[in-house]
Amino acid sequence: MKQEQKSHTLGELTWPEAQARLESIDIVLLPVGATEQHGPHLPLDTDAFDALHLAQEVACSLPDPKPLVLPLVPYGVSYHHMDFCGTISITNETLTRLVYEIGLSAAQHGVKKLIIINGHGGNTPALKNAAQMINRDSGIFTCVDTGETSDVDIGGLIETPNDAHAGEIETSTSLALRPQLVQMEKAEAFIPDFSSRYLDFSSSRSVEWYARTEKISSSGVLGDPTKATSEKGKEIWRIMIAQLTRFVAELRDLTLEEIYERRY
Ligand SMILES: [Zn+2]
Repeated sequence: MKQEQKSHTLGELTWPEAQARLESIDIVLLPVGATEQHGPHLPLDTDAFDALHLAQEVACSLPDPKPLVLPLVPYGVSYHHMDFCGTISITNETLTRLVYEIGLSAAQHGVKKLIIINGHGGNTPALKNAAQMINRDSGIFTCVDTGETSDVDIGGLIETPNDAHAGEIETSTSLALRPQLVQMEKAEAFIPDFSSRYLDFSSSRSVEWYARTEKISSSGVLGDPTKATSEKGKEIWRIMIAQLTRFVAELRDLTLEEIYERRY
């Protein structure tokens, strides 16, 4: 078990081991999270823990050669949660720059494919920007997954609309992995009711718009954590890991030329 873990976690390797691994595998996973309020019932590191867990499980699920998992970026763009104590936020510029430089370093050591596994929606603009610039300046394949590979499957498991933050989904996934850190007795529902369908997060016609969470929800919750169960959480993890593993397996076996040319 120890040996298996060592084989895919970059931070646990020595430099000669990293060099040897990158001669047999050219794909890496970069988990990016956040340190921010998740209501009165979930820990501040929920997004960071979840992004790292997903990356590690995907790497573990694949047969050798497994992709390498880069060290977690535990901070994200969380200005909208700053009214809640404990939130640590960095700017879009800082996150973009950090991830850009991580990507360029990886490319310099032979990485050809970088999958950014994003655990926090607020990071998406910065990560897309970074991914674009990594591709521009190093030519490697770079993409961002904020759940797009599995969202369509997970939607059907969830009872509440607008389950955007610390609600049914995130509380379920936390119950499945770290029930000792979930304070269900403090979980309370807050389902936002938006004044326009164009502002409604669950509408397919919704525009991108931004607000400080406190303006919408005094507890910091957007969704219904009381509907959360460990069973739902296990199913969500199973789906997310399976979909992302499938995608990473496909990418792993493609050269850059094939990614651009081959049609499925
Ligand atoms: Zn979260």
